[in-house]
Amino acid sequence: MAKILTCISIQDGKVRRSSLEVLTRCRQLAAAGGHTLEAAIVDADAAAHLDTVKAYGPQTIYTVSHPVFRRHLNTPVLAALTAVIEHARPDVVAFASTEAVKDVLGALAVRVGAAALPDVSSFELVDGGVEALRPVMAAKMLARTEARAPRVLVSVRSGSYTAEEAPAGAAVEAIPFTFDEASLRQTLREVVTAAGGAVDLSEARVVVAAGRGVKDEAGKQLVERLAGVLGAAIGASRAVVESGLFPATAQIGQTGKVVSPDLYVAVGISGAIQHVAGMQNSRVIVAINKDPDAPIFKYATYGIVGDLYKILPVLAEELERVKA
Ligand SMILES: Cc1cc2nc3c(=O)[nH]c(=O)nc-3n(C[C@H](O)[C@H](O)[C@H](O)COP(=O)(O)OP(=O)(O)OC[C@H]3O[C@@H](n4cnc5c(N)ncnc54)[C@H](O)[C@@H]3O)c2cc1C
Repeated sequence: MAKILTCISIQDGKVRRSSLEVLTRCRQLAAAGGHTLEAAIVDADAAAHLDTVKAYGPQTIYTVSHPVFRRHLNTPVLAALTAVIEHARPDVVAFASTEAVKDVLGALAVRVGAAALPDVSSFELVDGGVEALRPVMAAKMLARTEARAPRVLVSVRSGSYTAEEAPAGAAVEAIPFTFDEASLRQTLREVVTAAGGAVDLSEARVVVAAGRGVKDEAGKQLVERLAGVLGAAIGASRAVVESGLFPATAQIGQTGKVVSPDLYVAVGISGAIQHVAGMQNSRVIVAINKDPDAPIFKYATYGIVGDLYKILPVLAEELERVKA
């Protein structure tokens, strides 16, 4: 019997959906193999998230609370995660593959003497370790990797699993943690978020993304109108980021953000593999493109062939009418 620990990520005072997806996966593995499932919350106010995490069924939840966690700094986060792992002694530690986790995973593996499988799209427990699939070559291929070690850390791409509640009466254990903020040699001066970003792109349930087919400010306004009516975050291909029409923070893809919404609307995007690498985990993909042979249609659940400048006003108007 193994012990599986899921570390929960908090952003802007909320538990990240991707963490709950990983916790759900760990719960399924624990149930199938008779393993123990635990969770850890490291936050300025870890107790505030207990109800959310309890709803996903861990048997024990470890909390580490300290004001230093108001903002991500890898030194205290590393110290806290090391403390939890040394206390709980898990065999497998699973994380959502967030920017913060990417920042600390390697160092944490060294600290706690574990193997690490970063940024996987699925994972299984096998005899003596973990086996995982990992997207490589801009997600064109999947590599099967495994780590056989007494302790394995694994970080999982957002959207790889579905978060499903299964409440259990978790025991809660606060891990004592002291940290001298004056000892920090690193400070975080500013977190730059997407301009005017009403909805956070990487956690959004709906994303409307614009490509080079959106040629000008008028096209951008059409995209914004559709995003507004759908309550969506706005994404972009690298082409329209480079042209300056959309901010770099909106870029989705290999060198941009990875998103996994329930609905992804690709407007005037060809579907280059480097873009697809960032959005192919979306559940429903709607592509609007005037070229019926555009590669994006290979990935789309629904395709609309036509001029986006004619389609978007009709679509937005109809959705506004239905919502009214
Ligand atoms: C190392 C590397 C990393 C990269 N990383 C990324 C990345 O992270 N993200 C990313 O997006 N790209 C990335 N790229 C760039 C990528 O290869 C493509 O060039 C880019 O994704 C193309 O963007 P696009 O689909 O908007 O533009 P295009 O390929 O030019 O496609 C525009 C599409 O719009 C359609 N269209 C035109 N007018 C209309 C209209 N009026 N109505 C409807 N449809 C219309 C066209 O038919 C076409 O399919 C990377 C490239 C490299 C080499």
